[in-house]
Amino acid sequence: MGDCIFCDIVMGRIPSIRVYEDENFIALMDINPLTPGHLLIVSREHYATTLDAPDELLAKALPLAKKLAEAAMLGVGAPAFNIFVNSGPESGQVVPHWHLHVVPRKSPKELPLHGGAPADLTKLPFTAAAIRENL
Ligand code: AMP
Ligand code: ZN
Repeated sequence: MGDCIFCDIVMGRIPSIRVYEDENFIALMDINPLTPGHLLIVSREHYATTLDAPDELLAKALPLAKKLAEAAMLGVGAPAFNIFVNSGPESGQVVPHWHLHVVPRKSPKELPLHGGAPADLTKLPFTAAAIRENL
């Protein structure tokens, strides 16, 4: 066993239920699914977050997410899905090895992803400016 659970999974040192593999990624069933059919697309190489992963690899991830999301929707009878990547512990990332969540969805009430307070429109342009300055 190493010190990264997803490296151990990629290497087959601990078991996983896989639905797909190629030279760059494996896709497996999440062990604590948010909804039925929740998948993780995991990079074969170890990159801690999205900022560490090469652009060429990330460019391959979204088309794969689309393919797997469609299969997951059909597989569990869900009409919709979410995809997301937690990046950094403050985002909720608990496994620091790059992975993308594919979560089939049957109802917007399953997971509360909205509910933010309305923006303060006197401050929003300054937040936007702070972001632009860092591009
Ligand atoms: P996060 O790092 O917050 O993006 O989430 C990590 C995800 O990995 C969680 O949804 C966990 O349920 C999932 N997970 C952790 N260990 C395993 C495992 N051994 N097999 C499958 N999924 C796992
Ligand atoms: Zn790893």
